[in-house]
Amino acid sequence: MSILSDFLFETRIAASSLADYVTGTGLRLGVTGLSRAGKTVFITALVQNLLRASTAAKDGERALPVFRVHAEGRLMRAKLQPQPDDHVPRFAYEDHLAALTGGANVDERHWPESTRRISELRLTLEFERRKGLRQGPSVLTIDIVDYPGEWLLDLPLLTKSYAQWSRETLEASAAAARAPFAADWRGATLAVAATAPESEAEAKRLAELFTAYLRAARADAYALSTLPPGRFLMPGELEGSPALTFAPLHVEDDTAFASGSLAAMMERRYEAYKAHVVKPFFRDHFARLDRQIVLVDALSALNSGPAAVRDLETALSEILVAFRAGRSGFLSTIFRPKIDHILFAATKADHLHHTSHDRLENILRLLTARAIARAEDVGAHVDVVALAAVRATREAKVKQGRLLGEKSELDAIVGVPLPGERIDGETFDGKGEVAIFPGELPADPKAVFRGDGLGVPEGAADYRFVRFRPPVPRLAKDGEPLPLPSIRLDRALEFLLGDRLQ
Ligand code: GDP
Repeated sequence: MSILSDFLFETRIAASSLADYVTGTGLRLGVTGLSRAGKTVFITALVQNLLRASTAAKDGERALPVFRVHAEGRLMRAKLQPQPDDHVPRFAYEDHLAALTGGANVDERHWPESTRRISELRLTLEFERRKGLRQGPSVLTIDIVDYPGEWLLDLPLLTKSYAQWSRETLEASAAAARAPFAADWRGATLAVAATAPESEAEAKRLAELFTAYLRAARADAYALSTLPPGRFLMPGELEGSPALTFAPLHVEDDTAFASGSLAAMMERRYEAYKAHVVKPFFRDHFARLDRQIVLVDALSALNSGPAAVRDLETALSEILVAFRAGRSGFLSTIFRPKIDHILFAATKADHLHHTSHDRLENILRLLTARAIARAEDVGAHVDVVALAAVRATREAKVKQGRLLGEKSELDAIVGVPLPGERIDGETFDGKGEVAIFPGELPADPKAVFRGDGLGVPEGAADYRFVRFRPPVPRLAKDGEPLPLPSIRLDRALEFLLGDRLQ
């Protein structure tokens, strides 16, 4: 291609993707949540369901009944397309689906690799407009953007100096719940003079101790999920990069650090992190989103007890600061979010009997109340749902036997535990199905702050932590998997996309 045609080609691409947005036929959907919340599984299931829904309908399979465009027979076709942003990795949909279904061998099915960095996937939906409105065929282009929720926690850093951030981080690490994890790093950093000469080895040592503290704190039940910098835990493409080789020091606020000192070196790197990592993420990715789903692993927090629940609540409201920022004040000079629909989704609801799904939603509504008030304040539509993007269990009544040893009927869930799962001295081999009592959520959502998480009946084994294998896929007549089974995925789709598919 000549330079001129090269140029025209590039321009055409840019113009066509711009046109999508100008004419209102494009939508950027952000999918976020803290690590292990279920982002990868959600996106894979969402795309697979959309790609396969029409074929399933022809086979007489009813998928996604609440997703109106499909239920009304107006969804003609879904197609994956090349994504518009060449510099962003593509979401590895095919690999993740092959993991979930096992590809050619269902015995190989397993959960896909989790999100570690930003990625993107473009999908087009061809549909018929509803009668009475602007009738006729239409197309909606959806860019799905997957990114770690940890990165949203970095926003407050933009308004903080290095000294301020250092002081707050040191203070936080002294709190009783955190001190045991922070001891090594605190000891090391308090022993270092900020005026000491700059040293790469010292910066590296302190950064490693600091990262180890953040990691250890989060691995524990009383997780410090709320502490930035987000990239220390989710470095993405910056893994091992010098951009992350800094840590807080014991320094005075409002002092200018002598050039050549360790504090000056740390401050420089902190500012570089803000300028080259945090700002570009918010400006180039976050600010371009139209809709957002925030996935929340509320069940894990409920299982871990009230401290974890409170921590999750704080993390959610800190994450959601980002959705309001930019409307006014300093941050609006950097980015201005335009998200108009936000959905909070409690994931992995297939670990519960359906009688508890509404209760899970009520708990999530309570945990996100502060965040929701903020978002509604700026005019975004907000909703809450309990869902399972991939349903790994089915429901059954269990009469007696291994559960209770008495003759009563209990609502149970049945699934194949992951190989190696151990409960009550029994190790599962990943083959046979097991019926378990899933635990019952309290009717009063506030009870979760008092420690009444998932109740287990007396005498029943505590199977709450069992993780299941993905389900064996059912095949359509064309030999490809039918839409993967899910819980309330259609409700999520209707909320996020429904109004654009009228
Ligand atoms: P990410 O870190 O947010 O990308 O999280 P993933 O999507 O990788 O999910 C983390 C883990 O949660 C998976 O490996 C599964 O074990 C589990 N998980 C996620 N979604 C579901 C679901 O819908 N049902 C069940 N049973 N487990 C799920």
